[in-house]
Amino acid sequence: MQRYGASDFTACYNCGTCTAVCNLSEKNSEFPRKLVRYGVLGLKEEALADPAIWLCYACGSCSETCPRGADPKNYMAALRRYAVARMEPTGLTRLLFTSNPFSVVFTALLAVLFAFFMLTVKPDHVISRWIFDWMPEEIIHNLGMGLFIFLGLSMVVGGLSMLVKLFKGKPAQEKRIASLWKAFVETVAELISMKRFRDCDADETSYWRDKPAVLKPWFVHLTIMWGFIGLLLATALDFILKDPATTLWLPTRLIGTAAGLSMVYGATVSVVYRLKKVTMSYEDSRLADWLFLGALWLAGITGFWMEIAVTGDYSNDFNRIIFMIHTVVSMELVLLFAFSKFAHAIYRPIALFAHFYGKK
Ligand code: SF4
Ligand code: SF4
Repeated sequence: MQRYGASDFTACYNCGTCTAVCNLSEKNSEFPRKLVRYGVLGLKEEALADPAIWLCYACGSCSETCPRGADPKNYMAALRRYAVARMEPTGLTRLLFTSNPFSVVFTALLAVLFAFFMLTVKPDHVISRWIFDWMPEEIIHNLGMGLFIFLGLSMVVGGLSMLVKLFKGKPAQEKRIASLWKAFVETVAELISMKRFRDCDADETSYWRDKPAVLKPWFVHLTIMWGFIGLLLATALDFILKDPATTLWLPTRLIGTAAGLSMVYGATVSVVYRLKKVTMSYEDSRLADWLFLGALWLAGITGFWMEIAVTGDYSNDFNRIIFMIHTVVSMELVLLFAFSKFAHAIYRPIALFAHFYGKK
């Protein structure tokens, strides 16, 4: 856990203060004390099997009040990194989360590789001919598709294993279906409203309590999440409609612009909060946090630059370089989805669903 970013959580003496102050701790839930206890006792399988590790929004209240300095917030974040590493079968995530030199070299090499392919993959290019003579384009394409499917399935299997555990010892099938539906609705409502996150920010001891809503962490998180989803939607629509959408007023372009603004706003505010360490929850940023936020921010800013360049028809080498940076960063974000902090976008909704279903 310490290699994944936890502080000395073994200092915990099980007092329960963290459970008392956590706004997300429900009656008899023992959250997050129970998870810290699992760690102290070395019960890693029990800890990983508990969807509650994904329910924490890292507000930091527990760490501020822990009398032993066990820093439960950091421990929970480390547990999530460890869970992502365990659910991803290649071992790459473990290296990315635990070795900064490896992270830097790997992401830089990946960027160089993407840029190389962008510059050379043209049928008549001398290097393309050499590569495709050696390995046909279809094989490279199919290998890439196979890798994506493998990673996607491993994430789905990891998430489903959380759900399967919940079915053990539950009541009759009819009740299950009604409960499943209710849990699904509650999960969607939570993702749209971030109510649980808002509860953290609204706590009477919270630094954020009297701040404007647009500056509160729940809102910043919401803008990043829906910004990215909107950009994925715009990109998919562009692809499906085969519409280059170079006019600002086309629907796909409007969705992309609004989503891009939202994501850049959220990423910028998050970077500023982490640089200024505004509260305890922003104090311990790891390289994985910076790389993730930096990639989101860079993808957004270069995307807007390209929007202006394309709209104004400013075709020059500088704008081509910006386009290459935009494409390389976006490809890295997508390719490293399963290996990075980004993976919580899949695991948290599943855990929320498991949590709501478990309460039925
Ligand atoms: S983590 Fe800290 S507050 Fe929570 S039970 Fe342990 S000692 Fe108490
Ligand atoms: S960081 Fe906040 S949400 Fe997470 S366990 Fe601690 S008090 Fe609860």
